[in-house]
Amino acid sequence: MGFRAVFLGPPGAGKGTQAARLVEERSPLHISTGDMLREHRSKGTELGEQAKAFMDAGKLVPDELIIAMVEDRLGGVETGSEGGEAGASPDQSWILDGFPRTLPQARALDASLATPLTHVVYFRVPQDVLVSRLSGRWTCSSCGAIWHERFKPTRSEGVCDNCDGALKQRPDDRPEAVSQRLEIYSRDTEPLLDYYKSRNVLCEVDADRAPDEVFSSLTAELAAS
Ligand code: AMP
Repeated sequence: MGFRAVFLGPPGAGKGTQAARLVEERSPLHISTGDMLREHRSKGTELGEQAKAFMDAGKLVPDELIIAMVEDRLGGVETGSEGGEAGASPDQSWILDGFPRTLPQARALDASLATPLTHVVYFRVPQDVLVSRLSGRWTCSSCGAIWHERFKPTRSEGVCDNCDGALKQRPDDRPEAVSQRLEIYSRDTEPLLDYYKSRNVLCEVDADRAPDEVFSSLTAELAAS
């Protein structure tokens, strides 16, 4: 059987970076609610319009909007109509990255899954490290690659090494939104740790390390059932 995992952790913990690497090596479906919302915005959908102000201010998009979006996507994954041929296989693994972020979202997820989660991976990082990670983060406007002024700089300032696209700072990576996101994380998302601990699916990765080290701990956790 493959894994059906939730990546849980504060913004800046490296969930997206680790998910991207896992996709390269293991080809799970990567379901990132942040990416899905950004795509809705760039296409100018109604959901994208509704989500815009919440996102730019570093606030959570209301539960009912997010839950409907994820249920729609997971419905396709679970019936095998999404993810190409692999989607039809019971071995197809998937990762939910950035969802759930509140208790109502976690309960809705439990209710909508035909087969339960295999892992909830908590990426642990101290708060002061998160602030410095988030505040220097730049995203390629063309290919979506994530760079960092100090930890992962590009060869030429403001230009993506992969595709020469222009780098931009996500509005929610600006300092005023960063502290708001971290506060909301402690208030709304941290309670999920106890929720999943009591369901015996929680495991923990020390994410305050180099990405390679985090990745080997992550794959070890996913290999354990
Ligand atoms: P992320 O890329 O995961 O940091 O998400 C970017 C923004 O999208 C968040 O700051 C929220 O505004 C919104 N968002 C993403 N996932 C969720 C979620 N599960 N619940 C509510 N809002 C979300």
